[in-house]
Amino acid sequence: MSHAWSPDSWRAKPIQQQPEYPDTTHVARVEQTLAGYPPLVFAGEARELRRQFAEVTEGRAFLLQGGDCAESFAEFSAAKIRDTFKVLLQMAIVMTFAAGCPVVKVGRMAGQFAKPRSSGSETIDGITLPAYRGDIVNGIGFDAASRVPDPERLLQAYHQATASLNLLRAFAQGGFADVHQVHQWNLDFIANSALAEKYHQLANRIDETLAFMRAVGMDSAPQLREVSFFTAHEALLLNYEEAFVRRDSLTGRWYDCSAHMLWIGDRTRQLDGAHVEFMRGIENPIGVKVGPSMDPDELIRLIDTLNPDNDPGRLNLIVRMGADKVEAHFPRLLRKVKQEGRQVLWSSDPMHGNTIKASSGYKTRDFAQILSEVRQFFAVHQAEGTYAGGIHIEMTGQNVTECIGGSRPITEDGLSDRYHTHCDPRMNADQSLELAFMIAETLKQ
Ligand code: PEP
Ligand code: MN
Repeated sequence: MSHAWSPDSWRAKPIQQQPEYPDTTHVARVEQTLAGYPPLVFAGEARELRRQFAEVTEGRAFLLQGGDCAESFAEFSAAKIRDTFKVLLQMAIVMTFAAGCPVVKVGRMAGQFAKPRSSGSETIDGITLPAYRGDIVNGIGFDAASRVPDPERLLQAYHQATASLNLLRAFAQGGFADVHQVHQWNLDFIANSALAEKYHQLANRIDETLAFMRAVGMDSAPQLREVSFFTAHEALLLNYEEAFVRRDSLTGRWYDCSAHMLWIGDRTRQLDGAHVEFMRGIENPIGVKVGPSMDPDELIRLIDTLNPDNDPGRLNLIVRMGADKVEAHFPRLLRKVKQEGRQVLWSSDPMHGNTIKASSGYKTRDFAQILSEVRQFFAVHQAEGTYAGGIHIEMTGQNVTECIGGSRPITEDGLSDRYHTHCDPRMNADQSLELAFMIAETLKQ
């Protein structure tokens, strides 16, 4: 695929999972407006994340990527952003301190609005309507008017993303993420759990370490006072993404400045499709979801299209097989990529292959299956002598009951208590911390 790339060359390719807007001139007007707006991130930051990705690919750091399945317009608040950020900080410090491994932190935040759907329509009680595709496209309400795609939502998504990112930057650099605050990151509602206790013990050890460092005059490093935090979302709506493609004045190269990192979903990774065409031309670090239908030769062609220079910081393969499919599908992909000498950052998404329907009708995930997929991901890497570089999860700092299981077990009957997700079921803070401790144990070995 060596033809010329331009920010709009994807428009000549077949495309999946796009909304059908009733008024295309309205969409074009909104695209123009977005193209004139300031970018959310700048090229130098995306380059820094690429450098950090290379550290992970080469086995010197671990990637933690997490956030909502879909951000929502209705549930947009400082508290919500803060609490998700807190859980990510907790998870990261658990892995950093317990396993001695630097953690690269990336939020599925500040732009994760668009959803691919397995069906274009939804039927309830004999009534069929177009599927909900995320707040950036249409409304979640089950009525015909809500489900009509509205281009004005692209503008609202942009404004929400800018405000979210602004707050995240303040949290990351303004003192909130200072490691001396490690006890404060715990959320009140998990205060009395076994995991909170485990976390506080770890935090106490960090306090001791910090006291020692202070005593010997070594606690002035800026790394203790602030963190690097990056944003990412699925690059699904390519007209939105195109509007943020800007040429970097330093290098003359193209970056998609809507987020630091973008990924292609499992439903839109066709080699000759629009999404692959768009992504191959931007210089950001990028990801591709790899599900059970991926073929080893196809994967190599995809890697070569997206990362022709075999740069270790460029490409993250996000494996999402399902706990019962890892064994059958992952080893042959991993072996092939290793044999062919391709440099990629392998991470595990233990969520999207493990979605089930509870008998009550709720879409859920069993925490035991999530843990099992992550464990198998590590085991397969260990057997092949390759590096398990990270995890990609759907989680929230809200006290939700969306995934069953965990150390304070959520039962099928309990799902209805606080089931708030706009799309897929997320782990709550307890479950996320439990996963982090499990990974820290594995990384230590
Ligand atoms: C997602 O990450 O929300 C998603 C839809 O994943 P996948 O493309 O792997 O199904
Ligand atoms: Mn999801």
